[in-house]
Amino acid sequence: MTTVSVVPGPKIPGGSFLIEERRPEDAFTPEDFSEQHFLIAQTAEEFAAKEIMPNIEKMESKDFGLTRELVRKAGELGLSAVDVPEQYGGMEMDKVTSAIVADRLARHGGFSTTWGAHTCIGTLPIVYFGTEEQKKAYLPGLASGTIVGAYALSESSSASDALNCRTRAELSPDGRHYILNGEKMWITNAGFADLFIVFAKVNGEKFTAFIIERNMPGFSVGAEEHKMGIRGSSTCPLILNDCMVPAENVLGDIGRGHVIAFSVLNVGRYKLGAGCVGSARYCIESAIAYAKQRKAFGKVIADFGLIREKLANMAVGIFTGEAMAYRTAGMMDAAISQLDPHHADMSQVRKVIDEYAIECSILKVWGSEFIDYVVDEMVQIFGGYGFVEEYPAERAYRDSRVNRIFEGTNEINRLVIAGFLLKRAMSGQLPLMSAIKNLMDEVLSGARDNGIEGPFAEERKLVASARKIGLFAAGVATQRYMQAIQDEQEIMAAIANMVIETYAMESAVLRAEKLAMQGGSIAHASAMARVYLAGAIERIESAARTVIAAAAEGDMLRSQVSILRRLCKHEPFNTVALRQAIAQKVLEAGKYVVV
Ligand SMILES: Cc1cc2nc3c(=O)[nH]c(=O)nc-3n(C[C@H](O)[C@H](O)[C@H](O)COP(=O)(O)OP(=O)(O)OC[C@H]3O[C@@H](n4cnc5c(N)ncnc54)[C@H](O)[C@@H]3O)c2cc1C
Repeated sequence: MTTVSVVPGPKIPGGSFLIEERRPEDAFTPEDFSEQHFLIAQTAEEFAAKEIMPNIEKMESKDFGLTRELVRKAGELGLSAVDVPEQYGGMEMDKVTSAIVADRLARHGGFSTTWGAHTCIGTLPIVYFGTEEQKKAYLPGLASGTIVGAYALSESSSASDALNCRTRAELSPDGRHYILNGEKMWITNAGFADLFIVFAKVNGEKFTAFIIERNMPGFSVGAEEHKMGIRGSSTCPLILNDCMVPAENVLGDIGRGHVIAFSVLNVGRYKLGAGCVGSARYCIESAIAYAKQRKAFGKVIADFGLIREKLANMAVGIFTGEAMAYRTAGMMDAAISQLDPHHADMSQVRKVIDEYAIECSILKVWGSEFIDYVVDEMVQIFGGYGFVEEYPAERAYRDSRVNRIFEGTNEINRLVIAGFLLKRAMSGQLPLMSAIKNLMDEVLSGARDNGIEGPFAEERKLVASARKIGLFAAGVATQRYMQAIQDEQEIMAAIANMVIETYAMESAVLRAEKLAMQGGSIAHASAMARVYLAGAIERIESAARTVIAAAAEGDMLRSQVSILRRLCKHEPFNTVALRQAIAQKVLEAGKYVVV
């Protein structure tokens, strides 16, 4: 099915990382990139360096003619065709390639947003749900970048709560058109897009997707929003005033628009996570360059421990984020490679991606919060210059903030993570409840340790502890609240935080183990994994404490806290020395490096 494929591994069920240990060979990492992956990465990097970077000022001043031209040039290079099937002008490559392109193009928040909305939420609804005629009519233009796509779900009164939309669609008396009335809000690319995936309720009831061309009667675009960041992207409202949409432009089934809206967001989320990591790679480079030349107290600031600590934390996050992003994409590819090549179609590929909704939301939340940390510390490293427009830190700081808001706010994504896990557990897709029960039996019997030995034993023990702490806290909470846990948002978010950190920790360790298996020096990678683990296990402990304190009281609380303490017990790593060594390495290289 795909023209580039990763080495197919076993199909790993979504969310199963919480209950099953993985081996390094089960996890795809950047160390597994094929020659073709490197070529695509290089193409995207060169495009970013030669086409995006020199044009940032023009894009920031809203020269959308130029932005359109860049989308077309990216299309010429095949960068917009990765997820589109070959018979419609696409390249139909694997999800790792998709993540690579999102990662390597993420040099300018504005262009990244434009390109992401075009190739992902503006194109994929047709790839996954379009009829043969719709695919033939629209996909070649979208894949080549000669037409630009957009996606219009949000409205002024409902965006997180998108199914509550007010836009209506009524069939015309002759049955040839749907007449749409309403407005859409904050639509990326609206200022210049040609094609819009618009959601409306047929007869005010059945939530449905429509493909709308810009020149259809009754369709218009409102004024550009004045935004805090990503000013190089277009964001406008849409106005639908008796907008006449041919009946054949209904996308998917009437009343099934929610499936389209949410499936496509899963892809948007994992790509957004990959993009945040890519953006961090560029930020650390700028921060290192500045720190090596700025002097204070007779030294360059790169010599100060507190500056080195920030650079080390950035590198640790990039290492971990890459591990999570490519592990997730690799799991999707492994599952897709097991579809029957003769009978599988794009709707099955889409269903495979839906299977990893938890991991996609994890990447979105983790990536967007990590890049906010990076840009904040980048401003700090630049000091006063970080606060003025002439330096790159100021724009990066403003641009990154929206990542926590769109593609589902981080609050909504945290609820998705915990909610999907519970749903999968209740439906028997994920044996979470039996894992919780086994753990409860184990801790009550006072059983100790898990006998993990060998290389990376310390790290793997910490991951095992993270998993147990999360299961234990989730067990305490489900016993206390039962089904009503869904309404306990703070508990759900704390559970999501433990889940996110467990995935991040395991991904970092698996990547370090993979590097060790491949031979060569792993001191730097091991140090990065260790620093991530040290912080994450504390955050997990804190989240578990919050859950337990809310769910239990009196003697029960005391005994659960003592179990938690036992589960959290570990010898701390010397993170000061580890961060010093990591910083030294990236300062010498002048950029983020793995080896
Ligand atoms: C620059 C930009 C580009 C965008 N591009 C697009 C686009 O191309 N297409 C599109 O359709 N939309 C787009 N959006 C809209 C975006 O997806 C929404 O802004 C986002 O989903 C949040 O919705 P909202 O703004 O209505 O906030 P609200 O839904 O009003 O949320 C406000 C706050 O309440 C919280 N909240 C809401 N519901 C809950 C809940 N159940 N539990 C707990 N907390 C909750 C939210 O997390 C948030 O913190 C874009 C937005 C921006 C800013």
